Amino acid sequence: MKAVSYIFGPIPSRRLGRSLGVDIIPKKLCTLDCIYCELGRTDKRALRRKEYVPTNDVIAQVKSFLADHEGIDVITFSGSGEPTLHSGLGSMIGALKEWTSTPVAVITNGTLLYREDVRHDLLEADIVLPSLDAATEKTFMAINRPHPRLHLAAIVEGLKQFRREYRGQLWVEVLFVEGVNDSNEETQRMRDILEDIGPDKVQLNTVLRPPADRSAHPLSEERLHRLEGFFGNRSEVIGRYHPSGGKKDSVIRDSEVIAVLRRRAMTLRELEQSLEAPPKAVLISLLSLVRDERVFSFVYLGKKYYQAFESLGDALSV
Ligand code: SF4
Repeated sequence: MKAVSYIFGPIPSRRLGRSLGVDIIPKKLCTLDCIYCELGRTDKRALRRKEYVPTNDVIAQVKSFLADHEGIDVITFSGSGEPTLHSGLGSMIGALKEWTSTPVAVITNGTLLYREDVRHDLLEADIVLPSLDAATEKTFMAINRPHPRLHLAAIVEGLKQFRREYRGQLWVEVLFVEGVNDSNEETQRMRDILEDIGPDKVQLNTVLRPPADRSAHPLSEERLHRLEGFFGNRSEVIGRYHPSGGKKDSVIRDSEVIAVLRRRAMTLRELEQSLEAPPKAVLISLLSLVRDERVFSFVYLGKKYYQAFESLGDALSV
């Protein structure tokens, strides 16, 4: 049986720096089906929490990686689906916090924060990064295409409750799609909601990668910066990642390239940064993977992206 890796990267995160990704959900199991999702469409939206992958195996893999590698800024639960769907998330965070001083972050869509067990699972994380893209139920339906049993009002209440209980950093991301959630009415309501939640940061983003629905278009950088002023002191436009240093190896393994590209599409430059490898080594590996039909390329907004045919979901039995 094929060995499954639950970790990927480290990858250059626009928000967190050099992040070791931990992927505990089969692709693409999620509560939402966002039009801008860079992982493609959600075939089946789920709400059920369970141990989708073995909790102890995940903990062991992260520990083993950290024992052999330095320079990781943060361990980040994210990846192929919604991490709070995993019922062992709290145990994983707790075990890692006991073992390492490297901060632990969770990137979540925040839709399950109305549940007490989910809020409890996240309490020990250093940074929780929920998203909130809509201020009205109608826009929530349009941009996030939620599971039918999810409602925006309950999600917003969950976020407020979590803020009251959680002592770590809460960074809420709002991703804007042109013509969908950027009207004056919507942004004004969003500002009020965020005011009530009281996060440490409000991070403004737009469609920067190939989206599930190609009709999802980004806001201009200028518009995003105007919104930054509108949302006030705590808000920031998420910038592009600039790596602090590079390494050396002139050879990279195809498996390293596949491990990154099965989670998300990347340009050649992003892949070089992610793997901290010289352009030539990355290109040689990519060309051979394309030739072997393990990776394909496509163009989005004038940039060439590469993605693996094989996904984590192919390697997992759910
Ligand atoms: S963007 Fe995140 S929350 Fe939305 S469908 Fe994709 S994985 Fe789920």
